[in-house]
Amino acid sequence: MKKLAKKKGAQKNCRKFWKLGVEEWNTQFFNVSRDAELTVTEGHHIYNLADMARKYGTPLQVVFPFILEDRLKDLIGYFQAYMKIYGYKGKFFYHYPMKVNQNKEFVLPLISEGANLEVTSANELWLVKKLWEGERFNSKIRVLCNGPKTHAYLDLIEELRSKGMNVAPIIEGPEEIERLTKYKGDIGLRIDLAIKADTHWDKKFDRFGLSEKDALSMPKIKNLKIMHYHMGSQIKTQKSIFDAVKRAFGIYAQLQKIHPGLDTLDIGGGFGVPYEKKKFYTAKGVSSKIIKILKNLSDKAGIRHPNLVVEWGQYIVAPAEITIYKVLSEKIIPKANAKSWYVIDGSFMNDLKDTWAIHQKWHAIPANNMHGGLKTTWLAGSTCDSDDKYTAGGNYILLPKLHDNEEQYVAVLDTGAYQDGLSSHHCLLSSPMKLVVADGTVSISRKRETADSIGKLFGWTNGTKN
Ligand SMILES: *Cc1c(COP(=O)(O)O)cnc(C)c1O
Repeated sequence: MKKLAKKKGAQKNCRKFWKLGVEEWNTQFFNVSRDAELTVTEGHHIYNLADMARKYGTPLQVVFPFILEDRLKDLIGYFQAYMKIYGYKGKFFYHYPMKVNQNKEFVLPLISEGANLEVTSANELWLVKKLWEGERFNSKIRVLCNGPKTHAYLDLIEELRSKGMNVAPIIEGPEEIERLTKYKGDIGLRIDLAIKADTHWDKKFDRFGLSEKDALSMPKIKNLKIMHYHMGSQIKTQKSIFDAVKRAFGIYAQLQKIHPGLDTLDIGGGFGVPYEKKKFYTAKGVSSKIIKILKNLSDKAGIRHPNLVVEWGQYIVAPAEITIYKVLSEKIIPKANAKSWYVIDGSFMNDLKDTWAIHQKWHAIPANNMHGGLKTTWLAGSTCDSDDKYTAGGNYILLPKLHDNEEQYVAVLDTGAYQDGLSSHHCLLSSPMKLVVADGTVSISRKRETADSIGKLFGWTNGTKN
């Protein structure tokens, strides 16, 4: 008995050490098994992630639709609850920005949980068309269309509208005004707010949307329904989110005088994820404050409370996937913050592109030997590129010392946002196999690429004969 109790205490400490089981860091579903391996819990089901890596091989992406559903349900719940509490008369709509992760196993659960959609290209809209034709979603869903409107894109928007889909193009620039004002369905307008936000993407010269001045000098558009803005992803402070809402409301109120049909404010994406497992703002707190701000401002201005559209993509999907690698070898690093390179059997540059592109920080933890003696490491990818590495910003990653008789697996958390769409094939490495865990079963949703299937992407259609 005593021994078990002691073991339980050790398990608890171990979970704490790896920052698991903490809701504000989105690790509440993760735990450590009695034999010191990483697990994930879905209702009454528990999955051992190290076992999954042993069985299916690595690199491996594991997708958790139940986490998506849980997060979206909570988010919609917060906004609806605060609207009720504060007596807010507008409606709330969540639109899933498809570019964040276009995989079917992400899009379908979100739709079933109540998401509307936002697309950025004709090809994303084409997938929506296929889903709709297959009667995979309710026709009440609204689809917002951002991105430059090519002829193919506009034709598809028109086609879907004429067939009865609720599809609304968003005017992104002065050149789109003329063609889009002829559009018969609902129209949106994107504003480039003249305000800074605390994010990597706060570019001095934003090329998206109309300037406030241009927007306010547009002639009346009868079916202009939505005013939209998007400040950039992974906004670092909640103040930046609130400042943008306040600024946008000022423009919204002026625009509504010119375009009386305007009834919806779309505040875009940008809600951040605590990748580094440090103190961060919360969706509950922010949603409450947004409703409060909008209520007060519209009451003061004497206008209807706007319907609210939120497109927080990364926030919803990042925690719903993890990526697992195996350590292939170790190399001593003389004189650095870390003692050793751990070379992994995949690539940061290919599979987790933001590591290279924007120096993304990740929560990288062992998937087995979680009680073991530790070492400071840097992670090296398997391409021949010296940029293919993860050093936690020059700091180090704590991982177990390697053992001759056992593989070491490393899990990178929160990899569900953007990485799949950005991924590539440097050195022709295979992309990770993709597994989906749901209702107690594990299924393969993308097979491991073979040399032949990758070769085909590069034009080697008949082997090497031609
Ligand atoms: C990228 C994008 C989003 C999603 O941003 P997140 O940072 O993932 O929340 C939402 N809306 C628009 C218009 C976008 O371009």
